[in-house]
Amino acid sequence: MPGVPVTALTYAEAQERARLIDVSGYHVDLDLTGGEEVFGSVTVVRFGCRAPGASTFAEIRPTRLRRVVLNGRDLDPRALDGNRLPLAGLQAANELRVEADMPYSRTGAGLHRFTDDADGETYLAVHGGLDDAQRVFAAFDQPDMKAGITTTVRAPAHWTVVGNGLARPTRPGWWELAATPPMSTYLFTVVAGPFHSIRADHRGLPFGLHARQSLAGHLRRDAEEIFAITRACFDRYSEIFAEPYPYDSYDQAFVPELEAGAMENPGCVTFRDEFLFPSAVTRAERQTRGVVIAHEMAHMWFGDLVTMRWWNDVWLSESFAEYMGFQVLSEATAFTATWTDFALARKPRGYDADQRPSTHPVAPEPREVPDADAARSAYDDISYAKGASVLRQLVTWLGRPAFLAGINDFLARYRFGSADLADLLDCLSRASGTDVRGWAGRWLGTAGVDTLTVSRPGPAARAWSVAHRGGRPHRIWLGVYDADGAGQLALRARVPVLVPADADEVTLPPAAIQPEPALVLPNDGDAGYCKIRLDPGSLATLTASLGRIADPLNRALAWNSVRDLVRDGELAPQEYVALAVRHLPAETDPSITGQVLAYARWTVADRYLTPGRRGPALADLTDLGQGLLARPAGDDPGGLRLIAARTLIDSASRAGDIAALRTWLDAGQLPSGPDLDSRLRWQILLRLAVLGALGPAWLDREASADATADGRLSAARCRAARPEATAKQAAWTAMFGDRAGTGSGYQLAATAQGFWQADQAGLLAGYVPRYFPALAEVAGRGDADLARVLCQHGFPHHAVDAATLRVGEECLASGGLTGSLARLAADQLADLRRSLQVRSLF
Ligand SMILES: [Zn+2]
Repeated sequence: MPGVPVTALTYAEAQERARLIDVSGYHVDLDLTGGEEVFGSVTVVRFGCRAPGASTFAEIRPTRLRRVVLNGRDLDPRALDGNRLPLAGLQAANELRVEADMPYSRTGAGLHRFTDDADGETYLAVHGGLDDAQRVFAAFDQPDMKAGITTTVRAPAHWTVVGNGLARPTRPGWWELAATPPMSTYLFTVVAGPFHSIRADHRGLPFGLHARQSLAGHLRRDAEEIFAITRACFDRYSEIFAEPYPYDSYDQAFVPELEAGAMENPGCVTFRDEFLFPSAVTRAERQTRGVVIAHEMAHMWFGDLVTMRWWNDVWLSESFAEYMGFQVLSEATAFTATWTDFALARKPRGYDADQRPSTHPVAPEPREVPDADAARSAYDDISYAKGASVLRQLVTWLGRPAFLAGINDFLARYRFGSADLADLLDCLSRASGTDVRGWAGRWLGTAGVDTLTVSRPGPAARAWSVAHRGGRPHRIWLGVYDADGAGQLALRARVPVLVPADADEVTLPPAAIQPEPALVLPNDGDAGYCKIRLDPGSLATLTASLGRIADPLNRALAWNSVRDLVRDGELAPQEYVALAVRHLPAETDPSITGQVLAYARWTVADRYLTPGRRGPALADLTDLGQGLLARPAGDDPGGLRLIAARTLIDSASRAGDIAALRTWLDAGQLPSGPDLDSRLRWQILLRLAVLGALGPAWLDREASADATADGRLSAARCRAARPEATAKQAAWTAMFGDRAGTGSGYQLAATAQGFWQADQAGLLAGYVPRYFPALAEVAGRGDADLARVLCQHGFPHHAVDAATLRVGEECLASGGLTGSLARLAADQLADLRRSLQVRSLF
């Protein structure tokens, strides 16, 4: 809400409040029938005070505070100070009643309101993450003050309501949600609207799936797969965890315009409804949906049953859910290739984040996350990708039985309460019989990534060795490969190596790797978290034969090592494209094909290659896509042809390529498939728009022919992408003008994504220096959500030059951007600086 000063809760305040008061329960009463702008919210919270007479405060962010009653006495609603409601003269037992009109959200934070273009129906969902519960009800809004919540909801009569506790209608339009066990306020949710629901029981527990009416067909199509994954993961968690599932039901609601991928509200997970795929997807994308289902379910134990005491321990929730999601899906379902996908789609994001200025320990000290705004930054690739990788390494150290015994002890001790790093380490140490604290200090308590470099015996050294730069202990394997007669790289052995924390180098016994192999691949199996450098002979083998490593996980690891060389300026970026051209035609794993092509297209071509080299690279990628598409159609369970089609579309730049795109649009399909569904169709239209081959009248016709929410976003992206001065000016005004905050966050992101295009560097040059001051101005208006979207999706990454970097750095130095926004901008600038470095080297 622009204009309302919101004070983020500090760690010290949270500690003090937790010492002073003890919440025994909330009753939240929501009235969703009051029009499009506000909803009614009445909170009754009962709480004890350990020092009668003392003062504290609750948080709420209303449009209008109607009434406040503390222990039977009316307080003046005008006493509300920003988002803080002062409460003085507390008794040993207290009851606070707060009546308010609350604003609906358009950015996903709080009670988000969405009206479907397809049928005019409205859907609501609470996203309370971090300190956004106070946008819905009056709360002591900090993670460790857990209490049971009962909820009643009044909604239009034809709506369905679900939430944390099992919901039942009491009369038409009135719903009661069962009391929950003690839970954190940030996990509160209510989902309401005329949803299409599919219900089932599993082991006596009600399961539900919900989607808006216009996606009912998609939900029916996918329900069997989603339920099967849900049941399989539920059964697997029930075997792994000694604590039973803690809640009375398990709803999964696919809701519109969720900012996160999904949210782990106890008993009622919300997913962004793009997961009910509107168009054809690859098997890897379906697997990703499965991983998210498994991830959110892991949170029912990690995060929900046991919650971090303060936001510095976000990793206790996210790293565990991330690790468990990938692991359990592969154990419990037919999606067994999860770690290959993790290696390419997730882990590099952890490595990248760990080398940016904002990196931090997986488990920072509380003072390093001083307030709830700083906590926003903790939901990052360190907490997810690196944290999960570190847990994998921990499982390798302790062995799985000791690891599981430790976490089961942890869940039992702190059930329905909160805990921190020290509590977990105690449990793991007890269960494993080893002191895990030293290990954790290195791995969880310090930031950064180590590098392991393998050296081959030669004139200077008699034996193989592994040099260690960094300060963490590593338990990894060296994969030893021989080239066989058929040109394959055959795994001869996996040699275990233990690298102590303080060792600079580990030398292997002379006989460990003999005779001389073609390739030694460090971190074979990818259970470690480290940058790797191969010996020159192995790198030569890899360059020539990367595609001939039989195991997809190790091929993924090999691709990562090459990616890292490019990023660090040790391998020319055009070499990455050349490797893709050499090895992808025979690649059978669609995860690998898709991720390598995406990196080549969006990072290498658009950022690392000079403009002179970019054109030839796009041509190479187009030709590569053509080659992949020319494979025999038919047996393609992974969706390789779909990946090829996407590459062809995104890389089209020559006159012939553009003509082909138009032909496909007319035909409604690519030659010998796939058919053009709405995603591929809009993808072609976007590419044509970028290249100046899509006129405004044509675009208007396409937009009116697709009256879905997706269609509207795609049209906004295309409008912003057209290379005309008026189109760019209109998009700029939509992003930064006075009315920029009135649309949804999704709409704004779509416009920002369309605006900057590497193909239009000349046309956009005048906007680049204006970007940073404009961003600071939006932030200065108090619209932090908006500014974050513009920095996340609207950063000029293509403008790789010293002048852009200078303007950005000056803006940061002047203090125009603060808090989590400044951190995000600094990271974006760090990536730009790296692009500049890579370009200057080659
Ligand atoms: Zn999560």
